[in-house]
Amino acid sequence: MDNVRSVSQGSPLPRLEQQMLWQYVLQVPRAWLIAHDTDPLAPAAAAEFLKLQARRLAGTPMAYILGQREFMGHEFQVSPAVLIPRPETELLVETGLGYLKGRVAPRVLDLGTGSGAIAISVALGCPEATVVATDFSPDALAVAGANAQRLDARVEFLCGSWYHALSDHKGFDLIVSNPPYIAAGDSHLQEGDVRFEPASALTDGEDGLAALRSIIQGASQWLKPQGALYMEHGWDQAQAVRHLLEQAGFTRLVSLPDLAGIDRVTGGIYN
Ligand code: GLN
Repeated sequence: MDNVRSVSQGSPLPRLEQQMLWQYVLQVPRAWLIAHDTDPLAPAAAAEFLKLQARRLAGTPMAYILGQREFMGHEFQVSPAVLIPRPETELLVETGLGYLKGRVAPRVLDLGTGSGAIAISVALGCPEATVVATDFSPDALAVAGANAQRLDARVEFLCGSWYHALSDHKGFDLIVSNPPYIAAGDSHLQEGDVRFEPASALTDGEDGLAALRSIIQGASQWLKPQGALYMEHGWDQAQAVRHLLEQAGFTRLVSLPDLAGIDRVTGGIYN
């Protein structure tokens, strides 16, 4: 009879990915695999592993196979309806939470929430905050709503494009967004995990600044005086985003580097 070791032998996947798939198939912790890798294995489990391995080899992101990805210390459920949360987006959440520190009952808006990772992490990191999140995709909002419920986060989700989802929600202390910022035709869209993610979450179909521009131009109508707007953007967009913010009346502009040292989050204060 097969066991974990014999089935894994000759697997072309990196060891870590093999282990993640086994953990998922057998619903066991990593330590179990090491101690039990020669235990007899049900044929259905071996078949399931090989099926998932084939999907991975065809390029399907691990997060979509496992149906989840960790972000800000929370497990988020993900499906191909939503962008997979990225480590660099934690910088946006941390920047937002830093701004909220010491504010009484702040109101926060997350535009294009996708899996809800940003909105939910802000709500969990600042329980005093009222958090509203929008997305134009009902499928994404279903994922976000389920994540909020499972993680016990209080977030109001609204369907619509950017600010169009809002009605009488004026007066936000903070707006955050990780919008699609990859330019149409960028070769990055044909690589790795990105190929399997919703195009509408990745590219604006234009120069990469269209969504950022809409968000910046609409923000003043929805922010309180002295309210803040922070956005994630592409590796070469910090200067353009600062320029757009300046034109829209924002001051105290900052760009913050991600772990790779690339300016990834830019924002400012409206006054
Ligand atoms: N950071 C993502 C990537 O480069 C893009 C996310 C986005 O467009 N908001 O793959």
